[in-house]
Amino acid sequence: MKILVVEDEPQLASSLQRFLEQEGHLVELASKLAMALHMVDNQFDIIILDLNLPDGNGLEVLRKVKNQNVNTGIIIVSARDSLDNKIEGLELGADDYLTKPFQLAELNARLKSIIRRVHFKGDDTIVFNELKIHPDTLKVMVNDETVDLTKREFDLLLYFISNKNRVLTKTGIGEHMSKDFMDYGYTDDFIYTHIKNLKKKLIKAGCGDYIKNIYGVGYRFTDSE
Ligand code: CA
Repeated sequence: MKILVVEDEPQLASSLQRFLEQEGHLVELASKLAMALHMVDNQFDIIILDLNLPDGNGLEVLRKVKNQNVNTGIIIVSARDSLDNKIEGLELGADDYLTKPFQLAELNARLKSIIRRVHFKGDDTIVFNELKIHPDTLKVMVNDETVDLTKREFDLLLYFISNKNRVLTKTGIGEHMSKDFMDYGYTDDFIYTHIKNLKKKLIKAGCGDYIKNIYGVGYRFTDSE
């Protein structure tokens, strides 16, 4: 993937670059808004976007990219106090957001799910044993029977399957899920309830119990013990 990192803190920018390059991506850096606006004339697969930039608001980059009508995945990274900006960013079409400070593993989990979407073309289907997911129609099948999921359960399943065999923290799952509704109203209970309902629906349809609880940490989607 070709990734643009828009970030004015040099240390964070270079640690992101190092990490993403290790993951096999091609990375370019922009430390200022003007620079980023110029660079997005070339297409990137993914943009990691800080909002607080020395010469303006990173949302400008988001606006420009969305006007270009290209299929670029955008993840906002910003400080906890810029909730309004985050909400506006998601309304403008960002794929996800991550609150600073964050773990690189958490960023990677979000990226995996965006890469799924960006890579996704036409009638591609995600298959995991007896489970089939059609991201464009939000359809889920178990052994060729349709499973009715809510939009949020679907999103959760896609997030899990994009990160199979990785441990996902409750905090990360909660933040990822809360992007669909405009507040910080997620709690451990809220996450637990959605995951429980998703598990129940899948198992009832004859699917394996793949969503494993990792006690005190979070969850892992896997077909091994
Ligand atoms: Ca900044």
